[in-house]
Amino acid sequence: MSNVTVLPLGGLGEIGKNMMLVEHDGRIVVIDVGLRFPTPEMVGIDLVLPDFSYLRERARDVEAIVITHGHEDHLGALPWVIRELAAEHEAPPVYGGPLTMAMASSKLDEHRLRDVELVKMDTSESIELGPFQLELVHMTHSIPDACAVALGTELGTVLITGDYKFDQTPVDGPPADVSRLAELGREGVLLLCGDSTNVDRDGFSASESRVGRHLEEVFSRCEGRIVVTSFASNIHRVQQVIDAATALDRKVALVGRSMRKNVSIGRRLGHIEVPDGMLIGPREVGDHPDERVVIISTGSQGEPLSALRRMAYRDHPQVQLKDGDTVVFSATPVPGNERAVNETIDRLYHIGCDVITNKDAPVHASGHGHAEEVKLMLNLVKPRYVMPIHGDFKRLRLHAELAEAVGVAPEDIFQGDNGLPLRIDERGARFTERKQAGMVFVDGVEIGDVADVALRDRRMLSADGIFVVVVTIAEQDGSSVADPEVIFRGVPFMDEAGELVGEIRETVQGTLQHAASEEIREVDLLQQMLHDALAQLVYDRLRRRPMVLPVVVEV
Ligand SMILES: [Zn+2]
Ligand SMILES: [Zn+2]
Repeated sequence: MSNVTVLPLGGLGEIGKNMMLVEHDGRIVVIDVGLRFPTPEMVGIDLVLPDFSYLRERARDVEAIVITHGHEDHLGALPWVIRELAAEHEAPPVYGGPLTMAMASSKLDEHRLRDVELVKMDTSESIELGPFQLELVHMTHSIPDACAVALGTELGTVLITGDYKFDQTPVDGPPADVSRLAELGREGVLLLCGDSTNVDRDGFSASESRVGRHLEEVFSRCEGRIVVTSFASNIHRVQQVIDAATALDRKVALVGRSMRKNVSIGRRLGHIEVPDGMLIGPREVGDHPDERVVIISTGSQGEPLSALRRMAYRDHPQVQLKDGDTVVFSATPVPGNERAVNETIDRLYHIGCDVITNKDAPVHASGHGHAEEVKLMLNLVKPRYVMPIHGDFKRLRLHAELAEAVGVAPEDIFQGDNGLPLRIDERGARFTERKQAGMVFVDGVEIGDVADVALRDRRMLSADGIFVVVVTIAEQDGSSVADPEVIFRGVPFMDEAGELVGEIRETVQGTLQHAASEEIREVDLLQQMLHDALAQLVYDRLRRRPMVLPVVVEV
């Protein structure tokens, strides 16, 4: 019996790390491979990825990866997924819009992953992928080139909306392709997996183009320098800041690595237009009168190492903020980031800056549709089954209620969970046996400069202490010659840490045996392997992230 199974590995019951597997006739298409930023409790963690071990087991069956848009919660885990799939079998081709693929390419480059087939797709194309027919549908969101993914199967179309709003006056390009959505609905949508981010907000979201007007109004009241912070990928927002600056005869400086990178990609692909002579370097800010400068900066989420955060703590190498500067938050904190944002704002007041947030003036518009837009989507595509995605459990529930309100039968609405496959065949749809899903932590990303690493190490030490594990091995065959010595300092829950010593020793033995079987003898590699295994063990047991420092001594 022919069937379609969708398996979310991330993005349900949480905000972030979106990843969905769609399987048909034994072949798998992966929609989005996102990551999540760590919460303040996860000190020392750089990134959180979905646990995709199930996908690794199925590496041979992966037809393609499709990315809906270039946001980190949809694209960020790509290097890790590609690396692991390539190690198991081969790297699958990656499909998406032109800007999305440019961002994917730059990300893979940073991880020195070349030779990955990136296929730029146009929204008018339809491509055969094994048993699937793939099509991208143009949507509006807070980044250009956002798409819904339609995967045609013999049972009907699986439609994954990606992140979207129905913006009738987007800053560039056409509004969402409602006519294609309606057409897909007429042809038969089997399952709709829709964005739930703003289902708890009534009415329609505000249009992005409204923001520009308000930015200009706010700017015109400022006498000193202006710093605007927004998501670096929100290219339309950056464009509107540049337009407002142009109108008021101010120059623009871009501060923050990702801001400079995204603006340069956006310019190359024609999504952003900057008048000649408009941009100045961060170092040149001081050469211009205060009332002639706008700085666009990363750090709208209070990220610890971001440009704005460093400016707020008077720790930025190029820009020193001062009394009379105005900082405009053209973004709202993603749930979980509120505290960091508030801290940043308070530091800015301490310096003497004025701070404008969305509460003071409408200087931000969300990229996610509100309740009425979610209903519009449901009515346009008239799905047989509905499974809300991209939201915490509360939002998934609210989305289910909206689906019911527009007439979807309650038994056709599925409130899913990461790792829970939904199987659809001629007999209907039902959840089947759970697969592994969860979080995988990445620490020690080799991206960013050395100062970032030092700062991260210090945060880790101050919060959760350190485990030093001294492993003595025989020079001849790499076998362990003495029980590993385990020393810990500054670790909260000392008792529980003490109980761990036995397990740490077992893990060391296991890792050494594994290394021996793979004929790995280099001390650096051994230390890396021990670090990974021990860090995972310690986190599993303590739910803490102390620094784990294995020291291998050869005798
Ligand atoms: Zn998203
Ligand atoms: Zn997004």
